[in-house]
Amino acid sequence: MSTERAVSGAKTRIRDKLIPGTLEHAHQVPYYRELWAGLPVAEAATTAALADFPLTGKYEPAGGMAAVRHPDRTPSVLMHSSGTTGHPFTRYRCAEEVQALADLLANLNARARERTDETRPIVHLSTISKRHHGNSIGALAVERSVTLGLLSARDLDKALGLLRRPRLFPDLDDPLVQLSGTPDDLVVLAHAVTEAGLADRLRPRTVTALADYLTDGHRDFLAATFPGARIVHRYSLSEVAGGATRCARCELFHFDVHVVPQVVSLDGRHPVTSGVGRLVLTELHPFSQYQPFIRYDTGDVVEAAESPCEPGEVSVALLGRQAHTALVEHQGRQVLAFRPIPLREALEGFPELARGVMHASIAPYDALPGSAPLASVKFRPGNEGARPRVELTCVTAFAPHLFPELTGQLSSRVREAVLDSSPELRAMTADGTCELHLELTGDRRAAAPFTVRGH
Ligand SMILES: [Zn+2]
Repeated sequence: MSTERAVSGAKTRIRDKLIPGTLEHAHQVPYYRELWAGLPVAEAATTAALADFPLTGKYEPAGGMAAVRHPDRTPSVLMHSSGTTGHPFTRYRCAEEVQALADLLANLNARARERTDETRPIVHLSTISKRHHGNSIGALAVERSVTLGLLSARDLDKALGLLRRPRLFPDLDDPLVQLSGTPDDLVVLAHAVTEAGLADRLRPRTVTALADYLTDGHRDFLAATFPGARIVHRYSLSEVAGGATRCARCELFHFDVHVVPQVVSLDGRHPVTSGVGRLVLTELHPFSQYQPFIRYDTGDVVEAAESPCEPGEVSVALLGRQAHTALVEHQGRQVLAFRPIPLREALEGFPELARGVMHASIAPYDALPGSAPLASVKFRPGNEGARPRVELTCVTAFAPHLFPELTGQLSSRVREAVLDSSPELRAMTADGTCELHLELTGDRRAAAPFTVRGH
């Protein structure tokens, strides 16, 4: 784990220019003035200097981001999320920042069009309401948009009805189609569109997965359904302006230029430039003004790595939510008990494990498997009589008591795959720090679909 960053990349140089203005603006907010008392705010001129500033969360410390209000801005947009904590978090944006972000996206879009020589108008189809878009899509400025709700069978029928029309918009003969949605929605839609014989008519140029983790299996399915499309996997949080896109070359996530990514050690104390840590994001002025997030702890655990695509920048692999795993002391360090996202990827590789249904309220997707594997994982801290252990329960797609030999073989193969997915767990089971207890059952009630992000 190194803590020095020798070369700064092109994105960092752009971000560095925005840092003094960002800190000066945030310093006018009473919350930050108090939080940063004694810090040399005026001298902090680069993203590297941010490492000296305290981490923030939704409600911590001292009210957290919920308490941030810029005195000279008027909120014009309110978004709220219930989050996992139970109490709703309110997120405000003012007209100035919405405009700045729209200008930036329009600019990026214009440049992308110049590069690709593409002049056709864009029609954006999404299973997520438009309100969500500005934050999630990142680099796409949209000319026409259509929301395809996918909450019920009627919604799906309506969506297919729309797609059957010769034209979505009467004045557009051959628009460039972009499709976005949650991974599960996209998989249901891709399946339904294929069944209805409409995949060829839809022909999206890009298919963007948002709001949840797109597994390799789902990515491959979407790529096979829409062979001409680029499959885009976005990492984003509804409360933060700016996210990251997974790179097809190096498979890591590269961040948008208008947000500063940093990784800190799992205990939150040290900067990390390679290895496992928590992702911290800073929004830049002018793209966030009323309620700017500075050094916001996302709760996402990542593995930072140097990528040849973006030398000198933070690129990451997503490992999971910190709330979905546990930390164990191993050889004097806090390490992950297991890595949720790689664990799910590992389980997805087994056709012998049962999967959740594709969509609980749309037939036939309420019966067709296609969602996450049915599996649950728990960490039990050690006590005097027992070592700490990771307990994994997986539901099989067959009756284990009827196939005892297959069950035995499957158990060893799943065990190996789980240890491959989490090197920390492999090291801890090898030296006896921790145990892995694996249970295979045919009872579908024993575990829900294994989610790694949620919405
Ligand atoms: Zn890359």
